[in-house]
Amino acid sequence: MSEYLPSPPSPSPTTKQEMWDLRFLSMARLVASWSKDPSTKCGAVVVNGRRIVLGLGYNGFPRNMKDNEELYQDRETKLSRVIHAEMNAILNSSSSTQGSTLYTTLEPCNRCAVHIIQAGIKKVVTPMSYDRWPESFDYFKEAGVEMVLYPPLPHHMYM
Ligand SMILES: [Zn+2]
Repeated sequence: MSEYLPSPPSPSPTTKQEMWDLRFLSMARLVASWSKDPSTKCGAVVVNGRRIVLGLGYNGFPRNMKDNEELYQDRETKLSRVIHAEMNAILNSSSSTQGSTLYTTLEPCNRCAVHIIQAGIKKVVTPMSYDRWPESFDYFKEAGVEMVLYPPLPHHMYM
């Protein structure tokens, strides 16, 4: 387990920043619901310093490739074709992601973590997942990316 696990803020927003964090996590939840993957649905939102949304993404296959549910049933095929929500949000961003914040419904995996770092994203906000990625936390710490963890709240808390 990583030593870089900041204590989560309280479930109900007490500051303006927490209120915005919960709003964007709620938006990421909505985007996650658009994924066709029946087993894992993840959503991500990239926001600039003025709280303007730069890009949205969910886990799915690339544009112009088949995107039917049967392909998600075959694990090999799925893992080979899928683009994670965080990567899609970065690739879909309408302008530079330098200095931006990424909101995601699941803790980023190691591969997404290095792309998040390389995209110049300076803050990652996520609810704690049951699927832990301690290396990602270490990478973020090493690269100076701030990590903000919220408790794994019931669905309605993000709405
Ligand atoms: Zn990932």
